[in-house]
Amino acid sequence: MRLKNKVALITGASRGIGKGIAEVFAEEGADVAVNYLASGPAAEDVAAWVRSRGRRAMTVKADVAYRGEVEAMIDRVWNELGPIDILVNNAGIETIVPFLDLTDEQWTRLTDVNLRGEWLCSQVFCRRAIAEGRKGSIVMIGSVQAGKVLPGRTHYAPTKLGLEALTRNISAEMTPQGIRVNCVHPGLIDTDMTAWVMKRPDLLPGILAQISVGRAGEPREIGTVVAFFASDEASYLTGQSIHVDGGWVGK
Ligand code: NAP
Repeated sequence: MRLKNKVALITGASRGIGKGIAEVFAEEGADVAVNYLASGPAAEDVAAWVRSRGRRAMTVKADVAYRGEVEAMIDRVWNELGPIDILVNNAGIETIVPFLDLTDEQWTRLTDVNLRGEWLCSQVFCRRAIAEGRKGSIVMIGSVQAGKVLPGRTHYAPTKLGLEALTRNISAEMTPQGIRVNCVHPGLIDTDMTAWVMKRPDLLPGILAQISVGRAGEPREIGTVVAFFASDEASYLTGQSIHVDGGWVGK
């Protein structure tokens, strides 16, 4: 019960890694706000699962790329579940487009969600927490692609490497105010985002051969590390990024 009685907001928690984080957080004793954009019924299922573990839960729709929606989301969670102790910036999108074909619109939307969205949610959360004299913890969700080149990711990879700098810089300003900031870089995790790879017998074995553990990870294997970073056990840990990728980036 490393997160007993903490209130956590997890962005993009209707599916995939965010859902895995929500499940681990509930088992660790946290109340969970499940943010989503399009998957309302799936988000309700995650919230119901959290409640089935004896914790409080709510769903909250918001596009993390828009300040007004983020402010309304933080307000709602604060009012309904109480002051937020933990923010997990997990919401993200990935498209695969060759560099020469990438459009301004594709660049802008992806970077708005993956990088600006994490900055925005962090800023709105920190302003509220500091105004109310509260401490907290932020965990960014990056990617193995912060340290690895995969084709067609000239927009995606910079957002994930950028999160390392964002983490260090927000940490430098916010840790003295009582808010630690860290980043977890997942490797190949079995979710909707990677379903297409898992179905490609021509691609998958070559990728798995580069992963020391020899398999894709499960969302909860990210959740356990995020829970540690968010917990008071990690009280001397801030500004750091860690790869949780079965040994992919180092190989
Ligand atoms: P996923 O299965 O596609 O789920 C994405 C989640 O993000 C969904 O809950 C989705 O909500 C939400 N979302 C997307 N855009 C949003 C927006 N603008 N505002 C609010 N929520 C939004 O993806 P995943 O694999 O779980 O990935 C989660 C995070 O891990 C992402 O940041 C991704 O880049 C990163 N990551 C994933 C992998 C991997 O192998 N899976 C590896 C490295 C890093 P709706 O369903 O409601 O639209």
